[in-house]
Amino acid sequence: MNECDRISAKLGKFRPSLTLELKRLASERLQQGLPVFDFGLGETKGELAPHIREAGERAYREGHTMYGDPAGLPELRQAVLDWLGLTGEYSTENVVITAGAKQSLFNIFLAVCNPADVVLFDAAPWVSYQPLAISAYASPVMVLPRSGTENHFKVCPEDLRRNLKMRPHAKLFLLNNPVNPTGQLYVAEELEALLQVCIEHQIYFVLDRLYWRLVFDGHEYPDPRLDAETKRWVIQVDGLSKNFRRTGGIRIGWSVGPNDVTQAMVNLQSHYTAGPAVPTQYSALAAIRNDYDPELKRDLQRKRDLLHSEARGLPYVEVWPTPASFYSFWDVRATFGKKTPDGSTICSSDDLAWHLIESAGVVTGSGAAFMQDGFLRISFATPDEQIVGGVRATRETLQRLQ
Ligand code: PLP
Repeated sequence: MNECDRISAKLGKFRPSLTLELKRLASERLQQGLPVFDFGLGETKGELAPHIREAGERAYREGHTMYGDPAGLPELRQAVLDWLGLTGEYSTENVVITAGAKQSLFNIFLAVCNPADVVLFDAAPWVSYQPLAISAYASPVMVLPRSGTENHFKVCPEDLRRNLKMRPHAKLFLLNNPVNPTGQLYVAEELEALLQVCIEHQIYFVLDRLYWRLVFDGHEYPDPRLDAETKRWVIQVDGLSKNFRRTGGIRIGWSVGPNDVTQAMVNLQSHYTAGPAVPTQYSALAAIRNDYDPELKRDLQRKRDLLHSEARGLPYVEVWPTPASFYSFWDVRATFGKKTPDGSTICSSDDLAWHLIESAGVVTGSGAAFMQDGFLRISFATPDEQIVGGVRATRETLQRLQ
């Protein structure tokens, strides 16, 4: 065997997930006693709610540690339907509990794609969509909006139609709403128009709604239309990681979709993971069974406002509005071609992101990781003093560019 054949061509080219890499970098600087302003992580901070923690502890104490149903605990699947307002629309047979939303997405690619089938993503796809699709031998393609940045990278039906015409092997369109990384929200009419195109072309409409409770300014999350026509094609993905505090590591997600697709995913899980860890499913059950407390949403909306008011007048930066999620998206293309004090030239958002970390300890997400060079993703799920200090350090760094 050739040295270069030791790892498959598919996985050999993978880089670690950007967000985990950022976490490592930030902790390295902290260990060295250097300042860190952390806008990198896609994770809520604060205390884990006691009822979520206690449910997990109780599960261990009471011996809920044997193999469970590979589709997930029946009571959790029912709670998922209640949480998403889907009781009456679907039964528990349509729900699969997974080890985080990531696994739901991977299940979907594996369940519906043949090798070389095209999967369509929006213009700034979340970092793991492509590696997951490629691992399932599907071919990811980005739908680029004709309007460019005018509508903040939101895709419209004409954009989708144009791509579907060129790609008869498209199997699904994956839409993330609210959008990580851009912080945008597709409103009900926009969502319905895209869904309608998928129905016309008989492709799956996969809706990743992981941030759906974090919609600001009094707006409601727009649910997709569900009737006999659409239910055959809509698959929704959600999970525990973002809408609560400190729950990303509990690693529970879920999907709700048509019977045949769900059954295929359960069959896969029965061989693959045998279902996610049972005690953590009890934690998830406690989280979503309770009435949802909008405290996190209110706090994040306040942090968004703080960030945007601090960032006013930042040189070379255009800050996009953030109607949802906890990401502010910054257009930093005006820094390209500028020189740093040590004489190197900023040519990409990777360059700028590295320069911000190295010179000021400001950790951001480079737009390049989301296929959009020229932008930075700023996570404002971070303490207020980090927001204020981090924007100040960013301003000073940008002012030194020439
Ligand atoms: N989808 C989006 C848009 C995300 O931002 C993330 C995590 O950051 C995931 C899916 C995966 O979520 P989980 O941590 O539940 O696997």
